[in-house]
Amino acid sequence: MEVYGLLGNPVGHSLSPPMHEAAYDHLGLDARYVTFEPPAEAGARAVESAGTLGVAGLNVTIPFKQDVLGAVDPDDLAARIGAVNTVDFGTDPPTGHNTDATGLVRAFEHHDVTLAGRAVVVGAGGAGRAAAFALADRGMTVDIANRTVASAEALAEDVTGAGGTATAHPLDTLGERLADADILVDATSVGMEEDRSAVPRDGLHADLAVLDAVYTPIETRLLRDAADAGARTVDGAWMLLYQGVEAFERWTGHQAPVAAMNDALRSSLEA
Ligand code: NAP
Repeated sequence: MEVYGLLGNPVGHSLSPPMHEAAYDHLGLDARYVTFEPPAEAGARAVESAGTLGVAGLNVTIPFKQDVLGAVDPDDLAARIGAVNTVDFGTDPPTGHNTDATGLVRAFEHHDVTLAGRAVVVGAGGAGRAAAFALADRGMTVDIANRTVASAEALAEDVTGAGGTATAHPLDTLGERLADADILVDATSVGMEEDRSAVPRDGLHADLAVLDAVYTPIETRLLRDAADAGARTVDGAWMLLYQGVEAFERWTGHQAPVAAMNDALRSSLEA
């Protein structure tokens, strides 16, 4: 039996176990997906221990995504983002990947959204970094707006240094930035468990495709405002689904049963 898992603290309410186990059941794979919650300072050590114990693959979440970089061989994208959310022990040394970035792209693709033109990314934390690099890698011009402008500036500099096109902006200029934007990604935690949006309603318009990384609740204030403005919307569960799909396919070599994983994820979110 293969063992996969999630490393984080806390991981108690993670949606990844039901999503991955639905895929194993669907394909008849002899595998389990479990959660590991080591102390906050033990991230890199925990990855090494998991490898020694024969764990085949790990997802990594808060607060370990940066610490784990030192315990694996990160691919180019994970190294540029500065965070790993997927470890593959099927290689020697184990490799680190960032499927938040690739998951975001696949979430848009699932909705037939063309990633071209101008993107606005709100937020410059882990999800914001993944989004900015993913969209810049697609050739998009990326405006990064963040409450702490220095973090947006650092991210824009990193993206530009890696060959992309990005600029930093304060949150109160979002309206202007959105006027000729094609894509909006909200990568802040605003709207999580609260009916608030970091994006002013009147900046939203019908030519936008909007993805909110927040998935609790599924239908955030931002997504409601965006739908009212005629924009296409992609909820955060699609990004969560596709980061899991990417990890599953890397680990197992099988094409993921996306519909089964999506059903399991959405049922768990509703429960
Ligand atoms: P993080 O690294 O802690 O970053 C949080 C971001 O939110 C920062 O840019 C922060 O700005 C901003 N922020 C927080 N409170 C704010 C407020 N009151 N007003 C304006 N901005 C505020 O967190 P993260 O890992 O990037 O996660 C961000 C969100 O994305 C979370 O809801 C997380 O669940 C979600 N996420 C979803 C997926 C998915 O697969 N759907 C994957 C990863 C993350 P400052 O820099 O100014 O603090």
